[in-house]
Order: sequence, then C-alpha cells, then structure tokens
Amino acid sequence: MSPLPEPPRHCPRCGRAVARDGQGYRCLADGYRWYADPKVAVGVLVSDDRGRLLLVRRNHDPAMGRWAFPSGFVDAGEVLEDAARREVLEETGARIRLERLLGAWSERGDAVVFLAYAGSWTAGPDGGAQPGPEASEVGWFDPDALPPLAFDHDLAIVAAWRTGEGVPVRPAPADGPPGLQQRNTP
Ligand SMILES: [Zn+2]
Repeated sequence: MSPLPEPPRHCPRCGRAVARDGQGYRCLADGYRWYADPKVAVGVLVSDDRGRLLLVRRNHDPAMGRWAFPSGFVDAGEVLEDAARREVLEETGARIRLERLLGAWSERGDAVVFLAYAGSWTAGPDGGAQPGPEASEVGWFDPDALPPLAFDHDLAIVAAWRTGEGVPVRPAPADGPPGLQQRNTP
C-alpha cells in the first residue's frame, strides 16, 4: 500500500492557492481544475525451472527491508510489458521471458494500480541475479515457504500465479527469433 500523494496547495499553472473541488482541485485565482491521477505500477513473478520465485529485498520505503516481486512504476508513454521487463532488469540484472498477465490490483484510498505478470528465468540455473540500486539482496524462494512480503495484495497475486492461468503476453523481439510473429501472419 502506498499512501496517496499529499494534496496540492498551489496551482500548477499560476502558483496561487487551490481548494478541493469534488474529486479534484480548483485554483482560487484562475479557476484551473485538475484531478489526482492514479499511478500505474507493474511487477513480475519470475520463476526458474525448479519452480522457485525470484524476490528482491527492498532498500527503500514503502516496505523497506521486506521481500517483494521486482516491480516499479510505468513511465508515461511506456508499454506495460516493456516496463515489466525493465524493472526486472533494473532490480535483478536479469533478462527474463515475460509470459502472462496475472491480473490488476487496486485498493480504496491507494493511488497505485498494480498489474502483475508471470515470467520465466532464462539465464540458466543460478545465472547470476544481482541486486540493483533499489534492492539490497535478491533471492530464490520456494513458493510454499515465502518470507513475509511487502504489500497487502502480494498473497493474492501469488495465488493467481499458482493457477497457471492468465493472459498470454506476445513475445518481444528479444524473447525469441526476430520476425517470428510476422512470418506467421499473412
Ligand atoms: Zn492558478
């Protein structure tokens, strides 16, 4: 759970005072209105050929010191699947194969909308996952013996992963032979 951002006190256009206006805000000087947008985040449950899950230990708040799936915010204009691969690469140094979308999670009062994916480890056994700048440690865990996880919805996401279901992700060019998708289309 991430707290909602602090309510703004100044108009982003003119810098003068603002007031709440319904679900949004209104500038008292020029009448400019806007709304607080949700934040979109993605995470990946990466498994190896032994069925273990790759977790990172967070070195920053929220949930500093807790284990979590590699995850992070989507940049404006970024494709969801690219963001998912990028976050895994940044936090573990690993290029993975992204396989399926597990679902989307949100909570009342939380600005974050979280989309979880399943992916598979392609670098061979213990092929050198390394913590990136936002993690103090990376580790492989038996899904039946996971450490306490960072966020409220994490166990629901693990349950979704266990079903083996989800929406298949179309392979990125880096995931397979280039042009494979095109060759199979008329
Ligand atoms: Zn203004």
